[in-house]
Amino acid sequence: MAEATTQTKVKASKQRMKEYLKGWVPYRYKRYVFFVLATVVALVLPFITIHGNHFFLLNFDHKQIHLFFTKFDMQELYMMPFLLIFGFLGVFFLTTLGGRVWCGWACPQTIFRVIYRDLIQTKLLHIRKRITNKQQEVTGQYPKRIIGGLIWTILAIIAAINFVWYFVPPEDFFQYIKHPSEHGVMMGTIAILAGFLIYDVIKLKEDFCIYVCPYARVQSVMYDEETIQTIYDTERGGHIYSDDQERKLVKNEKELLSVEPDAECTYCDSCVRVCPTHIDIKRGTQLECINCLECADACTQVMGALGKPSLITWTSYSAVKEHRKPKYLRFRTIAYGIALAAALAGLFIASSKKEYMLLNINKTTQLYKIKDHGKMVQNAYTFLVQNTEREDHKYFFEVVGHPEIKILRPKEPFKVKAGAKIKKVVILGTDKVLSKDSSKDKVIPITIKAYAVDNKKKIVVTRPTTFVFPRYDVLQKERQKQ
Ligand code: SF4
Ligand code: SF4
Repeated sequence: MAEATTQTKVKASKQRMKEYLKGWVPYRYKRYVFFVLATVVALVLPFITIHGNHFFLLNFDHKQIHLFFTKFDMQELYMMPFLLIFGFLGVFFLTTLGGRVWCGWACPQTIFRVIYRDLIQTKLLHIRKRITNKQQEVTGQYPKRIIGGLIWTILAIIAAINFVWYFVPPEDFFQYIKHPSEHGVMMGTIAILAGFLIYDVIKLKEDFCIYVCPYARVQSVMYDEETIQTIYDTERGGHIYSDDQERKLVKNEKELLSVEPDAECTYCDSCVRVCPTHIDIKRGTQLECINCLECADACTQVMGALGKPSLITWTSYSAVKEHRKPKYLRFRTIAYGIALAAALAGLFIASSKKEYMLLNINKTTQLYKIKDHGKMVQNAYTFLVQNTEREDHKYFFEVVGHPEIKILRPKEPFKVKAGAKIKKVVILGTDKVLSKDSSKDKVIPITIKAYAVDNKKKIVVTRPTTFVFPRYDVLQKERQKQ
């Protein structure tokens, strides 16, 4: 009889939960969608190129940085400050707005742990019983654990290779891999990285998030009362812990109800059992919380069976207190947003100044040479020309706005191979008298415009330098020697 009553109660509660949670999609499934997207993007992005340029590539081999499908030589680091500012501001903005949203939704560590613990260990090999209980440590079952370890080892190697593709692009990687002994650094990096991932995911687990990850340590200083985080509503659920999180005030539902008769928490601890970092969110915000929202899903189901909303939600402390939606637009987020937009604009302006060849001009130590019995004054320079393109080009140059100064050497455009750098001795000269000052040499500022003859519009740079004309009396003396 008693059993029949219990069964009826369970059935009724399941029915109520079904009706109450109609159309509800657990955060877990939404996070899985993000995980799949993030993984696909990370794997595919290195293969996407526009005119041979990658979205992001830090190539030490060719000393290049590719950003937003534009290639920069390592010497062109003028956009780096904007990139760093943009990165830091992005982290501040995201954390102020959504707390540890990165940790729960996109961090590779979280994704790897979900793959290993929930997919391989729980769903595939049944080493763990349920995704909803992450507290029991796995014991025994060695054959299955070894199989799980081997599967993860393969995935860890793939992840390590994928990481390396952002430094050695796939087009080079698949050539290098044919001769592994010649590419020890690359092979060693993959081995070390894969080894770390195996240790991290199998042994270190969520301790990485708690003790190793620097972001976990600093993120709390960026929080304010409106920051979105996983929050247990003490007003509805009841106070299980003291405000300073030090003491547990009640041990079970009965004790809770004796102190707070309206408290809704059933003390089922489903939220605790599911937590991958082994904390109790009812204690309040904690450094260990990675914002995975598994506890919110668990409580939604428990409370759904009672026809009530979850006691654990993804919201802000102010929103809980004032029974409203969180405020996304506030002074801090707007200020970070504006600063981010400014850094992005700076990044675009800096990248629009990108040059498609490099030119350094050095003047030789001898200021000038007087030739042809004072009829010709020459200045010598060393031009360092680098072709930063993927194709060979022929280069030449001109002296801007000074038709009286001629290029005496080289006489013809010269070829520089793709990616190569050459030194060129350049001699400029004039047969005109540019100064009649006998007190000092005249230093004339000039501008050199160098370009690829086959693409004058795009591959062109200008550099300032000087042309030194001798004192008039020195020139005259040479002329009189004639
Ligand atoms: S308390 Fe635990 S389960 Fe809840 S969001 Fe934080 S880490 Fe996830
Ligand atoms: S899952 Fe909800 S009802 Fe159960 S203990 Fe946690 S907060 Fe209370």
